[in-house]
Amino acid sequence: MPHSKQLLKEVISEGDIVVDATMGNGNDTIFLAQAVGPTGKVYAFDIQQQALEATQVRLGDLYSRTELILDSHTRIKDYVPEGITAAVFNLGFLPNQHETAVITQPDTTVQALEATLQVLKPGGMITIAVYDGHPGGVEEREAVLGFARKLHAKRYQVVRYEVVNQQNHPPFLLVIEKTSRPTT
Ligand code: SAH
Repeated sequence: MPHSKQLLKEVISEGDIVVDATMGNGNDTIFLAQAVGPTGKVYAFDIQQQALEATQVRLGDLYSRTELILDSHTRIKDYVPEGITAAVFNLGFLPNQHETAVITQPDTTVQALEATLQVLKPGGMITIAVYDGHPGGVEEREAVLGFARKLHAKRYQVVRYEVVNQQNHPPFLLVIEKTSRPTT
């Protein structure tokens, strides 16, 4: 989602460590690799080998700034050091896959979000593109919103951005920001 890139640019600096939790066809991985510059690192996750292959090809020279990981985003803490500046979640399934699609699931998505908050720096940001038009989409949407609503209001700010004049279930964007200096 174009808007999420603008928001992410404001928090990501050169040399940062960031995460793409749902690599897919690699669009966000490429964007993040550009944002962190030659001294930064992007950890990108997908459970489909074809996502890693497609993303590696599309990255070209940017590949050296990335770690492409064939594993669930629930295991983020096994791979990613503490102190990341940003993480991107693009939920649902790859548009070109249809019936064979591997779809993100409510439980694992929420587990991954919890784990990501634990490694997120103060001042850091998670963006989540939420799709609710596919089977299972409403359940995942509710799980993610339920998780977000329970976050401590002084430690996290959660904002929802959505298009209001489009048909056919456009995705909406949830942005979780970790407060820089929590005031208990
Ligand atoms: N809905 C978006 C694309 C989402 S792609 C759009 O229309 O543009 C979501 C990606 O998440 C897929 O490539 C899928 O393989 C991956 N995925 C699903 N479950 C995952 C998990 N547990 N860990 C990491 N990636 C996962």
